[in-house]
Amino acid sequence: MSTAVIKPEHEAARKHFIFTQEHLDLGESMKAWVRKELYPHRNEWEETLWPDEAMRRAGELGFLGLCFPEEYGGQGGDYFYSLVRAECMSYSGSGGTNMGFAVQTDMVLPPVHLLGTEEQKQRFLVPGIRGMKIGCLGITEPGAGSDVAGIRTTAIRDGDEYVINGSKIFITNGARADFGIIVAKTDPEAGHAGITLFLVDLRDSEGNAVPGFTVSRTLEKMGMHASDTAELAFEDMRVPTDAMLGEEGKGFYHISWELQGERLVAAAGCYAGAERMFERTLEYAKEREAFGRPIGRFQAIRHKFAEMATKIEGAKQMTHATAWRFASGEYPVREITMAKLNASRVCHEVADECVQIMGGYGYMKEYEIERAYRDQRLNRIGAGTDEIMLDVIGRSYGL
Ligand SMILES: Cc1cc2nc3c(=O)[nH]c(=O)nc-3n(C[C@H](O)[C@H](O)[C@H](O)COP(=O)(O)OP(=O)(O)OC[C@H]3O[C@@H](n4cnc5c(N)ncnc54)[C@H](O)[C@@H]3O)c2cc1C
Repeated sequence: MSTAVIKPEHEAARKHFIFTQEHLDLGESMKAWVRKELYPHRNEWEETLWPDEAMRRAGELGFLGLCFPEEYGGQGGDYFYSLVRAECMSYSGSGGTNMGFAVQTDMVLPPVHLLGTEEQKQRFLVPGIRGMKIGCLGITEPGAGSDVAGIRTTAIRDGDEYVINGSKIFITNGARADFGIIVAKTDPEAGHAGITLFLVDLRDSEGNAVPGFTVSRTLEKMGMHASDTAELAFEDMRVPTDAMLGEEGKGFYHISWELQGERLVAAAGCYAGAERMFERTLEYAKEREAFGRPIGRFQAIRHKFAEMATKIEGAKQMTHATAWRFASGEYPVREITMAKLNASRVCHEVADECVQIMGGYGYMKEYEIERAYRDQRLNRIGAGTDEIMLDVIGRSYGL
């Protein structure tokens, strides 16, 4: 019998089953770019917002089109590249930048690809993948957020056109967007069945707002300061009938599909963001001394790291397993909802513990956990609140 001692490999890379060597290689090169070209600007962009050129640069490098077909300028990769991208973006040190990019890659472009006509894909998907046009998604309104069927924006047919009236609020990229997907009611009496999506230019070639559209105000927020968040107004904005995206009256189902991809990527952003906070705080706990030893050597602190690591790994595995189902052709709404709910809670708990472990320094801007703590709070609200996630899960059991 061999007397060799098999030792645990605590330092080995933890490869996750959905990722091939190609995913990992692409991840390494994107991560290197994020560290080199985004991370150094994390503080400046809190004041100035992330610049459009950053999106163009990402497009030039192929990072915006990882999962889209090559014929539209994408890289033709599988769904897992969306998770790779979300993980890489977590190295930017700027939740606002990550959110602005995710709106483009995971909220706006996927519906254009899935539902768009060839002409719409040429006009919006191709320049969107290149980063030459920036998009936004307008679902939420001042009077209706979680309750999408309660929206009031209308798009009423008038000959060869639709006339859009109404307003949208909390719209990420809304102040700068060249185009948007706008959710409106084509039949205000028909509830869910009266909702339709429109894919519209918001600015002309000179960058001016198109007639009937205005950015009524930009909004100040608790966190995500590098991202612009706007209230948009539509007043008799006329669009041709071919601005419709997908089928008339099917917008509620289209947007429900969009939200699944958005939630999975949000879950990836959450566990990856939590990992970055964990790493930063671990470094600190190994250096900071109290009572003659590094604080990480106190059992109370060591156990906090153990709890965080376990939660992060759980969130990651749940997201990966769900992404595998999604990519395998299933439409696992319950599991996607669980993954998003769980990962955003984990991210929140990790952020809170990291601030605690860093003590007074955790509360200071220069240590960056302070910003991450504020930025991550949105995850339990955006892309569906915790309460709505719980309701979707509960209802899926026939309750
Ligand atoms: C920074 C930021 C960026 C955003 N970006 C975008 C964007 O790009 N595009 C876009 O369309 N939207 C965007 N949103 C909007 C976001 O998706 C909504 O804020 C979110 O869906 C919640 O809607 P609400 O704010 O209207 O809250 P409400 O729906 O009014 O909810 C208020 C509270 O009531 C609870 N609640 C509501 N209904 C139920 C229920 N049935 N059961 C139990 N509890 C319930 C909620 O969980 C919440 O706690 C953004 C929001 C923020 C803050």
